Formats: sequence, structure tokens, C-alpha cells
Amino acid sequence: MKVHRAAQNLSANAAKDDPATPDLRRISVECERLGGINLAQGICDTGLPRVLRDALISAVDKGFNTYVRLDGIAPLRRAIARKAKRINGLHVDADRHVLVTAGATGGLFSSFWVLISPGEEVIVFDPSYSYYAHLLRRVGAVPKFVNLKEESFALVPERLTSALTKKTSAIILNSPANPSGKVFTREELEFIASIARRNSLIVFTDEIYEHFLYDGRKHISIATLPGMWERTVTVSGYSKTFAITGWRIGYVLCREDWVRRIGYVHDLAYVCAPAPMQWAVADAINILPSSYYTELARSYERKRSMLIESLHRTGLKPVCPEGSYYIMADASALPGRTGWERAMYLLRRSKVATVPGSAFYHDESGACLLRFCFAKTDSVLSEACHKLERAAGRQQR
Ligand code: PMP
Repeated sequence: MKVHRAAQNLSANAAKDDPATPDLRRISVECERLGGINLAQGICDTGLPRVLRDALISAVDKGFNTYVRLDGIAPLRRAIARKAKRINGLHVDADRHVLVTAGATGGLFSSFWVLISPGEEVIVFDPSYSYYAHLLRRVGAVPKFVNLKEESFALVPERLTSALTKKTSAIILNSPANPSGKVFTREELEFIASIARRNSLIVFTDEIYEHFLYDGRKHISIATLPGMWERTVTVSGYSKTFAITGWRIGYVLCREDWVRRIGYVHDLAYVCAPAPMQWAVADAINILPSSYYTELARSYERKRSMLIESLHRTGLKPVCPEGSYYIMADASALPGRTGWERAMYLLRRSKVATVPGSAFYHDESGACLLRFCFAKTDSVLSEACHKLERAAGRQQR
């Protein structure tokens, strides 16, 4: 019975400290009931590159359906190591510095579990992807939220330095970021790196949106800055880049002793990332030309423009994202006392679901914001824009 109570406590705590999950679930259920378009959840339903489908079928046919090495199959580790050199400027050894994980989430959870001790404080920049705070709490750590600057989402150096205490052990970075679309500049990364070096902090960097960059921006991996490799855990994956969120292929790049320890915990929790998917992703990394990635960014830039222009027309002032595939917009013009009420109003009025900004903040800063996801096919996105504009037209009349 003890176990049963522990499980109950765990889910009760999860519900208590998570404003995002119930809101997201409720809004998605309501969206489905109304037959609306779900721009709330970050599900990428744009379709996957053909090469992945063919490679997956071939992997299954060849019998690659059993457990594999806990750090992932060699062809995938080698493909990731080559990609890390080419795209990130990280010179990693496929046998020592790469761990294939069950999605980026599996990498985040296992590395937090290994490298953060209960009671330690970890800096999280708000607005933030809500999993960070949840995962941190599950390993007994204390998230310390540092708000980025209102509207521009710039780093405010004094806010970061004043959040540091003797208990601070790590910083979580996410660039390009969910939900803000922020891409940290080289100067900001250098500042964070200097703080990490000076205070012996670990940096966990979630780079899952590294290919979703707009207006000519370049991705910078903080692990490439001087003195950072030894203290950085770089987490990324293919959920977004290949539109395969259900395949669960992510990875961690870090120093060898950490790979071994994180791999041990990842093995206990997941055994290994799905085997046939590992073969297919390895093939896709090797086969797809660099134009795949540039075209991906270009097509998402077009989606971004479509939604930004539509939001301007509806009077929901958007903050133009620099990367990732979300837009935060000011919904203070909508009736409602809370973000949730505004999101529900918009859903009922337009049949377009969004996430209240409050889901990504730990203070009141997000109350008037809504997050829109644009990882949709052009036709679905265009229909969503149409619905938003029609509803705004009705509201003004
Ligand atoms: N990190 C961020 C910032 C995300 O937005 C998401 C998906 N919403 C993830 C990680 C999860 O990635 P994966 O599917 O590889 O676990």
C-alpha cells in the first residue's frame, strides 16, 4: 500500500506544481469537442521525409527489432558525431561522447538524475518549457526562475547574477527556445558561460530546435565556448527536425565519464531508444542533403510570416520569434481574468486552441500572453488564420 500512496503523492504533486498540463489537456479536449484546430500542443504534424519511412520499413524487415547497446547503435552514434562536427562545431568521439536517448526528454531526465543532487538549485529562464521544472522537482532539485526581459526576451545579466546562491549547481539553457522563440546571442551565451565557469556550474543546453532559425540567424552551441565542453551537457534530437515526435530519438553529447553515468540511468529507465527508429534516423542523417535543413528553416519562416501577419490583423500583438516554432502573442485585448479564460474565449470564438502564457511562467508575467504553435501543414495553418481573423471580425462588429 505504501507504493500505492507514493504513486498517488507523485501524481498529486505533479498536478499541483504544473499549471501547464491540465490546461493543455483541457484545452485540447475542448478543441477536439468543438472540431477546432489545435495550435496549442507542439505536435509536429507536417509529415516526415520519405527516406525515414523507407529506412524504418527496411530496418523492421531486416529484423532490427531487438534491444540494442545502451548507448545506441554505432551507425547512429557515428552519424550524430559527424553532424555535431558539421553543424555544431563540436568534435566528439562517437564511442565516448554520444549517448542515444529516448527522445531529448529521456536525455534530460537521465542527465538531471545523475548530475543534480537533491536540494541543489538550478537556474531556469522563464518563460520556459514546463518539463524542466517538473523533471528538476522529480529529482529533488529546486528550480530558480529568472525572467527574461519582457517582450524582447533578452537576458538581463543582473537577474541571473542575483539568482545565484551557494546552492546553485546548474543552468538550463534552451536556444532556440520554447515558448518564446528566443535565440540567445553570442554575447548572452558568453555571459552565461562566464557565470558557469566562475561558479563551477553545469550547463544543460536543450538544442532540439537548432534547425528552426529565422532571418539568417546561426545556431551556437554553448559547449563550443572556451572551457565549456567539460561542464556542458548538450541535449538534442530528431522529434522536430524530422517531424517524428512519436519515434523517441534524442541524444546527449558530453564528456566520457558523464556519458557512462547518464547511460547507466538511461538504461535503467528506458533500456534503449527504439531500435528500428535508430537505424532509420541514422540513414536519414547520412542521406539527407544540407538543403533539407535550409529548406526546413525556409518553410517554417514562411509559416511564421503567415501566422504573424494574421495575428496582427486580429489585434493579438505577436512577438516575432527568432527560432523554434511558437509565437507568443499579447491577448490582453481578449476578455477574461486569466490566461486560461482568454485561451478558452479564443477557442470558443474562433475554434483555434492555444496555450495560456501562464503555463510557461512561475509568476504573473504570462497572464496576458497566449502561445501559438505553427508546426502545421500550410493548409491547416491557413485555415487556422482564417478562423482567427473571421472571429476577430465578428468581435469588432
Ligand atoms: N525540449 C523542448 C524545448 C521541447 O519543446 C520539446 C517538445 N515539446 C522537447 C524537448 C521534447 O523533445 P523529445 O520529443 O525529443 O523528447
